[in-house]
Amino acid sequence: MSHKTTVLLIEDEKSICRFITTSLENGEYRVVTASTGAEGLSLAASLCPDVILLDLGLPDMDGMDIIKQIRTWSQKPIIVISARVKEQDKVMALDLGADDYITKPFGTGELMARIRTSLRHTHNKTAASAKIYRAEGLVIDYEKHMVTLDGAEIHLTQIEFKLLSLLSKNAGKVLTYSFIMEHIWGPYIDSNNQILRVNMANIRRKIEANPAQPRYVFTEIGVGYRMLEDENDK
Ligand code: CA
Repeated sequence: MSHKTTVLLIEDEKSICRFITTSLENGEYRVVTASTGAEGLSLAASLCPDVILLDLGLPDMDGMDIIKQIRTWSQKPIIVISARVKEQDKVMALDLGADDYITKPFGTGELMARIRTSLRHTHNKTAASAKIYRAEGLVIDYEKHMVTLDGAEIHLTQIEFKLLSLLSKNAGKVLTYSFIMEHIWGPYIDSNNQILRVNMANIRRKIEANPAQPRYVFTEIGVGYRMLEDENDK
């Protein structure tokens, strides 16, 4: 008997539950659903699911509080599925410890990709992390400290290399501005994103054929950046 990845879906809308359950059960997943926050928290503790899909608008609790509570004892991936599209909600959910978010309505392909990405990042925390990032002609060799694009070396500053490494090691996942700022410049950096935007513009000038339509590093407006998935992981 093969082990199926268990997905806990905390969602009160029946039609969404049906859609997600049907989509995922055709794949390699077992889906367990909870229609209230309290039920969701209790199942999260008793089932130890591999991934949690969480709606923010639940009848008894705010999803943000569920993220906070789960993060006190579990690092399993949480993907927010929500009709709330306000940028500050996305940022808050991510900064509280959600791994990603997906905005309703969404398709099966997008949902599966987000689940795959979040599972990969959990595994990478324990396994030896990759030494090379590779996607569509862009190669980042972390040990050699080298970036090449279609075989030609790209010269980056220290900060630019650190930034691109952080994004590529989390490829497929959105990183918030404040998360990136803290990781690169430390916790005492002021919250103005100017320095980050300048560095990102420089990176794009060096690696993107058309910086206005990036292939590698995408802007999630008002939230942060997301880098193209690593081909090794697809
Ligand atoms: Ca709801």
